[in-house]
Amino acid sequence: MDQADTRFSNGTVLLPDGLAQADVLVTGGRIAAITAPGAGGSAAQVIDCTGLTVVPGAIDAHIHLGHGSDIARPRVPGDAASETGAAATGGVTCILSYVMSADPHGPAFDDLIAVTRAGARVDFGFHFVIATEAQLAELPDLMARGAPSAKLFMNIRGNEGARLGLPGTDDGFMYRLLEVIAAHGGVLCPHPENIEIAWVLRDRMLATDPDGLGGLATWNATRPPLVEAEALQRILMLSRATGTRVHAVHTSSGAALTEAVRQRQAGAEVSIETCIHYLTHDVTSPIGTQGKVNPPLRDPADREALWQGIRDGQVDTIATDHIHRPATSKDGGIWKAQPGFPGLDTFLPALLTEGHVQRGIPLPRLIDMVSRAPARAMGLATKGAIRPGADADLAVIDLNARWTVGKEHLATDAACSIYEGHEMRVRVVHTVAGGRIVLRDGRLQPDAVGTGRYVARKLA
Ligand SMILES: [Zn+2]
Repeated sequence: MDQADTRFSNGTVLLPDGLAQADVLVTGGRIAAITAPGAGGSAAQVIDCTGLTVVPGAIDAHIHLGHGSDIARPRVPGDAASETGAAATGGVTCILSYVMSADPHGPAFDDLIAVTRAGARVDFGFHFVIATEAQLAELPDLMARGAPSAKLFMNIRGNEGARLGLPGTDDGFMYRLLEVIAAHGGVLCPHPENIEIAWVLRDRMLATDPDGLGGLATWNATRPPLVEAEALQRILMLSRATGTRVHAVHTSSGAALTEAVRQRQAGAEVSIETCIHYLTHDVTSPIGTQGKVNPPLRDPADREALWQGIRDGQVDTIATDHIHRPATSKDGGIWKAQPGFPGLDTFLPALLTEGHVQRGIPLPRLIDMVSRAPARAMGLATKGAIRPGADADLAVIDLNARWTVGKEHLATDAACSIYEGHEMRVRVVHTVAGGRIVLRDGRLQPDAVGTGRYVARKLA
């Protein structure tokens, strides 16, 4: 065998069929071989992974890159440099970012790739939000250029989208969008909320709790599980009629999970995503307005239902819904705070601390949900597993760590985290993206900026 670029030696490696003591040899950005420890020829560089676990780098299929308070799209390379730094810090080697605009996406596509690539430390792709007739018309072209997943905000009706600059749509638009996606082999990522019912509930809560003293519980009551579950079962029922694949993003409640599973049993082709914060936090978490997000953090029983769904194999993927808003965007109480928060920096430590160390869910099950499963759902054929020929995307983690999250551990330019003060039992030691070591001994490597690549995706 020719000399490899890098040998990750003597670690416990998570292979497609389970954990094994092995070396991973990387050449030209791809996994060249998996060998017994010490076997299989020399390498230019050896990374000793003794006592550590080597897993596929996480794929975060749900993030938002923006600039300042604008979360529509990255505007300058620094937006990608900081947030892919957060990704690498959390063991994430590929991000898929939602892009919002009221204008057609096609003319901006090349610029979007160029701006992101100039800062990216890990690989990236995009999902486009489809909100206008012009965008619906250009969607087949966007899909052919490597973005086969499209998002619909089911909750943006009437003036609801004004905050994001998006016009409202209706069920007729939704139905035609489902048809276009089915015809071109894509997947719809719907944000499921029945906003018309949420408006009624919001007005009632505004009357009973005008100062938002109920905090996260008040926010949950304005758009409770019912509005999520009803919308999700509706889009999935329609998707069965049109034969469209659906990726159910940020599933947050037991009720929504139940309805999605019911529709799946009836024939809907759906992958079910939840987000890390619905697994680690609920309305009783003492984080105040920092925890405002859509869908809201739920009751403890919902959190338990999602973990049960993970144990049962009903939930397929886990993402962060990372938004790099600064803590000041949460000022002014629960009614005024902007929704969303960062999650990339702490992704694998938070998931594995609560899921594996504290709840005893096997490591292969949890890692599958952030690697192979999102790769399959999103059409990332060369990613998601440690096998010869795959992209050399790895996270080398310490399962026997003990540390407490502080600002010094965060790379996001939001400089805040709902996990500040949380004790973690898992640490990301090295992150490897396309064979490049982008995080080494917990430190971001400055020369990684601009080495990430755009990944054109195609669903199998
Ligand atoms: Zn999102």
